[in-house]
Amino acid sequence: MGWRARLAVAAAAGLASAAAGADRFCENDLALLDTQFEGGAFHRCDVRDGKFVISIRPEDSKVEVPMPWYAFRASPKRPGDAVVLMGFVGADADRFWPKVSLDGTNWQRMSDRSVAVSDDNQRLALRIPLAEAPVWIASQRLLTTRFYDTWTLSLAERSDVAVRALGRSVHGRPIPVAETGNHPQAVLFIGRQHPPEVTGALTMHAFVDTVLADTELARSFRDTFTVITVPLLNPDGVAAGHWRHNAGKTDLNRDWGPFRQPETRSVRALLADLAERGIALRLMLDFHATQLTETHLFYTQRPQDGDGTAHAFAADWFERVRKRQRDLEFIHRPSKSESANAKNYFFTRYAIPSITYETGDETDPAWIEAAAPVFAEEMMRKLLSP
Ligand SMILES: [Zn+2]
Repeated sequence: MGWRARLAVAAAAGLASAAAGADRFCENDLALLDTQFEGGAFHRCDVRDGKFVISIRPEDSKVEVPMPWYAFRASPKRPGDAVVLMGFVGADADRFWPKVSLDGTNWQRMSDRSVAVSDDNQRLALRIPLAEAPVWIASQRLLTTRFYDTWTLSLAERSDVAVRALGRSVHGRPIPVAETGNHPQAVLFIGRQHPPEVTGALTMHAFVDTVLADTELARSFRDTFTVITVPLLNPDGVAAGHWRHNAGKTDLNRDWGPFRQPETRSVRALLADLAERGIALRLMLDFHATQLTETHLFYTQRPQDGDGTAHAFAADWFERVRKRQRDLEFIHRPSKSESANAKNYFFTRYAIPSITYETGDETDPAWIEAAAPVFAEEMMRKLLSP
């Protein structure tokens, strides 16, 4: 029996006997585990037989989509291998492959040799080598509200970008918006409705950077279109390490129409403001992440939706991408649902191309950095074409 198999057995034994008496940190003679940083989250932590036993569960009982966010830090007391047994409630243990960081900023996938998944896929066993410095472990790399602060502050320094708070979250955090130009046609980009969808956030960052870049194409695009970016719609969920919801126990991407939450209402106010200024939306992109692809997946309108122009826009956009780079893999999936999501809301209300732009949960950030700008440039060319 290899050590991975042994760890899996230990995980099964350890978690089967989970008992009361833990807190949001725990320690043994080797290390202290805690979640006292932004995005840090696990449900509880115990030490049993020298091993750390952690349980992972959603932020509230209404969460229906199993994207098990967790993030914790192991601070060593002496060098050695910490064994962490993780039990998942309401999600598959291997839904995200664990990521590791030595500085909380640079992340990589944990080595296959350091992770064991139990047969029933409800438990993970991790072996974490510790030296002197803390080690961060998370289901996805940490992309906290500070990332967005840095991004929007750098945009605010530009004379051609206006950054402001669109509104406040349930817990009073600002919802940032960055806007360029004041032209009668606008494109709107929305991000991070769902906290764990970090690869979608990386895609949005690379995409928006391309649209706001100092290139001839991007400059002429911004001379024609107002560009509105709402990169962080759910700051409370991101800060707290939620699986899905905002602090109002709501999936924001089921609140487009009901508008029961301040986050979605802040965008509704933005839309009213645009209407007052005589600015018409031409395109809405909503950035997410999914396990259904390893590249990009676009949910668009179907040919039979409306007068067909929304589907035709997407089809032409993607044809341009294919012509330019034949080996760039992605999926175009025309679809329709009754869900109160952003895609439905913007299409129903404005009859514009309204697209959910998904990126695979485990997609390599380097691939994203290369691919998203291609889609951004071809989107700009498409919108600028007569
Ligand atoms: Zn999502």
